[in-house]
Amino acid sequence: MQEHHEIVVIGAGPAGAIAAALLQRRGHKVTIFERQRFPRFSIGESLLAHCLEFVEEAGMMDAVRAAGFQEKNGAAFACGDRYTDFDFRDKFSPGPGTTFQVLRSRFDQVLADEAARQGVQVHYEHEVVAADFDGAEPWLEVRDVRPGADATPRRISTRFVLDASGYGRVLARMLDLERPSKLPPRRAIFTHIEDRIDDPAFDRQKILISVHPEHEDVWFWTIPFSNGRCSLGVVGAEEKINAAGTDLMATLRHWVDGAPNLKRVLANAVWDTPANTIGGYSASVTSLHGRGWALLGNAAEFLDPVFSSGVTIAMHSSKLATECLDRQLRGETVDWEADFAAPLMLGVQCFRTYVQGWYEGSFRDVVFFENAQPQIRAMISSILAGYAWDERNPFVAEHERRLAMLAEVCRGLTSRRAAQAEAEAKAAAAANATTETPQLASAAAD
Ligand code: FAD
Repeated sequence: MQEHHEIVVIGAGPAGAIAAALLQRRGHKVTIFERQRFPRFSIGESLLAHCLEFVEEAGMMDAVRAAGFQEKNGAAFACGDRYTDFDFRDKFSPGPGTTFQVLRSRFDQVLADEAARQGVQVHYEHEVVAADFDGAEPWLEVRDVRPGADATPRRISTRFVLDASGYGRVLARMLDLERPSKLPPRRAIFTHIEDRIDDPAFDRQKILISVHPEHEDVWFWTIPFSNGRCSLGVVGAEEKINAAGTDLMATLRHWVDGAPNLKRVLANAVWDTPANTIGGYSASVTSLHGRGWALLGNAAEFLDPVFSSGVTIAMHSSKLATECLDRQLRGETVDWEADFAAPLMLGVQCFRTYVQGWYEGSFRDVVFFENAQPQIRAMISSILAGYAWDERNPFVAEHERRLAMLAEVCRGLTSRRAAQAEAEAKAAAAANATTETPQLASAAAD
């Protein structure tokens, strides 16, 4: 008899574990097939506050809190001598104002264990290798890839497939849904270090985003963990990052040496872990759903790491998709485009505007502007904390127009202040000259 599972989730990352638990809690039977053995490394260690709402709803908050991750309350930005930070607790939208910086190997294991504790069947080292949605019911082929196991694919029928396979992009590849991202290809080189940061001004409760002073499109993340270690990475245009050499560690150190603020902070660091690299990660698809399937998290769309939005978007997609699927399995007719894709893309488009603004410079000007009104900073802080779906925030509802306007105001005021400062400096110099002249004259007479 053919194996049958009510709902299959591909992948046990954050999108898969949260989706599986949310459905299981609504009374459905969920099976996850995960290709790898956990714990496994994953990039994406700085969470946003909004994602904790989904962790809470999935009944996993106590376990996440008990894991002892580094608390995070905001994001700091530095470029040369300029420094600013946004505290997620000072934000416009309701919801949590703190979150965590996590070793993803541990965090993803906690979420998957919690899903299993709630009744989800999690099959590790089981790879989905084929899928078909043309028949009466969807079916998948799954291979047991555990060492020594019979790896012959076995056929599994199901009522619905949620693809949370991340960079595996299982259904996007099999159903020919892949669409190139509109964002240009970028590359990241990263490692973990024993940071030994002794600067009392360094805030371990914030991710530090440092901008390279000469190459403004090159930036670094520093994500402190609770164990005295940091995740450190550099991101930039593929050809620019690669041009610095082929040895990953030497290339990363070369870029860090070019950012004096970061070099100073990491002066005592022990670089004890080989560097790794990932490129061409921005991706998109032609559709987020079809008959018998929906795409979650990175299996659908990935923008850019700069605002740490990946896990939050992944969990938000899980929340929306599981609500639709629950209704559908109860016999309702669901408009997946209106109730899943459109509301999900609202936040994704909002993040996209700020990501593009970051690389083009408009959002950097806003971030580093020194005299912003507190209400406006709170609205920006909300977006940085992940609340990119809260349309009561004008910088969400009209993200493109508002960002363009705000950037123009910030630039105008910055250049006016610079001109004023220059004029004041000239006036002061002239005044000094007139007061100094008699002294010089008397000195000359002596
Ligand atoms: P994943 O976490 O990738 O999980 C997918 C799972 O599916 C994997 O465990 C995989 O083994 C499994 N799988 C794949 N193929 C198959 C198959 N055929 N069969 C069965 N299982 C399969 N996000 C943040 O929130 N914060 C950050 O600070 C951040 N930094 C980033 C830095 C960089 C350089 C990059 C590239 C991304 C970053 N991200 C960050 C994004 C983050 O990595 C992802 O958005 C997040 O991991 C997506 O979660 P997911 O559950 O969709 O996929």
